[in-house]
Amino acid sequence: MNRHYYLKTFPGWLKATVVLVILLTFTTAARSQSLTQKPSEGLSLPIAAREVWHSVPAATDRMSVQDKIKGIVIHHTAGRAPVEKDEAMILRNIQSFHMTDKKWGDIAYHYLIAPSGKIYEGRNSSYLGDSGTRYDTNGYLMICFLGTYDKHLPSPQARHALKKIIKNKLAEYSLVPENVCCHRDLAQTDCPGNALYAWAKLQKW
Ligand SMILES: [Zn+2]
Repeated sequence: MNRHYYLKTFPGWLKATVVLVILLTFTTAARSQSLTQKPSEGLSLPIAAREVWHSVPAATDRMSVQDKIKGIVIHHTAGRAPVEKDEAMILRNIQSFHMTDKKWGDIAYHYLIAPSGKIYEGRNSSYLGDSGTRYDTNGYLMICFLGTYDKHLPSPQARHALKKIIKNKLAEYSLVPENVCCHRDLAQTDCPGNALYAWAKLQKW
């Protein structure tokens, strides 16, 4: 008895039921995914929304609306690189530090990339990012790796995520690879760490 014979012996209603169950499973999975992730504008890119890390609302009275995006700046937090289950907590800690200690209106960065490769939504990109260093942040999209990258690189997943979001944002804002830089290219700082800086300079984006 071969496989073909088996298929023929299944009644039509049973085959239809199996197809329906498979379809329903996929639809439900896709719906639960869309509750935690939303595509960025423009090209499709999974970005975990602020709700995923339970951010507090931004204090927009302490923020300024930014002009047209003219470039992308790469940062690192220079803090601990979290394991996946701690990512949301680390993001809340950074937001709290920035809003309470630094008196900024929100977490400083527009996007944050975890070692797991997950990209998180930070500050709304229609507002200027904040920086502890002296440079004009107006028009820069700030993307920050969670962790310290002086001596070693972010994980392959995290670097892959950066390449994806940069490609996506260059297209979204009609920018070119030359518009991508690192924090230390603009200000007096070690950010984003020696190892990450050297790697970033080799990328064609
Ligand atoms: Zn930085």
